[in-house]
Amino acid sequence: MEQVTDRLRAAGLRVTAPRVSVLGVLDASHDHPRVDQVIERVRTAGVSISTQATYDVCEALHRAGLARRIAPAGGPVRYESRVGDNHHHLVCRGCGVAVDVDCAVGRAACLEPSDSNGFAIDEAEVTFWGLCPLCQSTVEGTTTA
Ligand SMILES: [Zn+2]
Ligand SMILES: [Zn+2]
Ligand SMILES: [Zn+2]
Repeated sequence: MEQVTDRLRAAGLRVTAPRVSVLGVLDASHDHPRVDQVIERVRTAGVSISTQATYDVCEALHRAGLARRIAPAGGPVRYESRVGDNHHHLVCRGCGVAVDVDCAVGRAACLEPSDSNGFAIDEAEVTFWGLCPLCQSTVEGTTTA
């Protein structure tokens, strides 16, 4: 993947310390962090950033196409820097973990509606819901105990 600073410049964003830190954190995170988790990780890396600045940077990255935002079932907004492919998410009903899964078809939109109603469709947002392996074993553990 290109360097963070190069991607910011290519997207027409000024290179600032908060933007570099937030995009770096998103690159290093594979759990689709919420904004509060992004703040925590940026601060753990030794960079001071305000809550508002983090929200602003995440939105700016999203608008510039450098970050994708997902909010499964109206839950908190989460961000990731994996953009430009048509991947989907497995979301656990128990703990809320969101895992990437490659699209079985490939190109968006990978599902056809029964009637497009004249829409020019460019995306089908697919979320697979269920219980992650950890939550499955917890459920089994409590029922058999
Ligand atoms: Zn779970
Ligand atoms: Zn993802
Ligand atoms: Zn798909």
